[in-house]
Amino acid sequence: MIDYHIHPDYSHDASDSVVDYCWCALNKGIEEICFTTHYDPDPVRANIERVVVKGVEQPMNYDWAGTYLQEINEARTQFPQLRIRAGIEIGYEMGLEGRIADFVSRNRFDFVLGAVHCLDHIAITSRSELNEFRMYLKTKGVDFIAQRYFDYVRAAAQSQLFDCIAHLDIWRKYILLEMGEEFDRAITKFVPLMIEAIVQAGVGLEINTASLRRGDNEPYPIRKIIAQAVEAGINTFTIGSDAHCAGDLGSGVQEAIRILKRFGLNPARFENRRKILT
Ligand SMILES: [Zn+2]
Ligand SMILES: [Zn+2]
Repeated sequence: MIDYHIHPDYSHDASDSVVDYCWCALNKGIEEICFTTHYDPDPVRANIERVVVKGVEQPMNYDWAGTYLQEINEARTQFPQLRIRAGIEIGYEMGLEGRIADFVSRNRFDFVLGAVHCLDHIAITSRSELNEFRMYLKTKGVDFIAQRYFDYVRAAAQSQLFDCIAHLDIWRKYILLEMGEEFDRAITKFVPLMIEAIVQAGVGLEINTASLRRGDNEPYPIRKIIAQAVEAGINTFTIGSDAHCAGDLGSGVQEAIRILKRFGLNPARFENRRKILT
């Protein structure tokens, strides 16, 4: 088994260390894990997006990635029986492509996951920012937000900065509940266009299983979107639990593997930014 979306305690909302996750992977019989701590480059959100380095909270532009990569390297020595990849989950923001490219070029990652967590600097994946989102919704309206989400996904794919796009239909987590069927209809129209942009950019998709452990029957994205993506030619899918604590490591991954198997696909793995061909 594998898990390609894991948040160690560099994220302020995550609780276990790199070593804790490695022990847990061994106990659960997981052969390969990829750490994907958050990197959020948006200076507008500098007060919200922080990184925790050796127990101390620091601004995101603090030079922390070297410490993170070193800790992963040390874990590789300590756990030779595990395959441990060094990844990153980057919160994409328009206009910050240069800053992201610079960060990625300065640090040697195996895997770079691109995520749309915010629209116009407002989180759509955080319960604590729902009030700000409601204000945004009131001024902009449902159709604008659907279009804007598509614009972000397309720009993230076209930026060529990422190996895979994370949790494509993350709108299901919070904001769909705010906007209801009207938004569902609006965003559904954009799904084929998102997939087309991702195919054209030659980028992969992630199957994120966090929803499964919250009682949802569908991963992110839902099976129907995965089927559409496969049909459109996408054959690179990583699988990740989005664990924020070691207890969640690997949760739902078997189900996602079963989904991919139905399409004759195996989960994608990465080393040094290249898909491993097996
Ligand atoms: Zn994410
Ligand atoms: Zn994540």
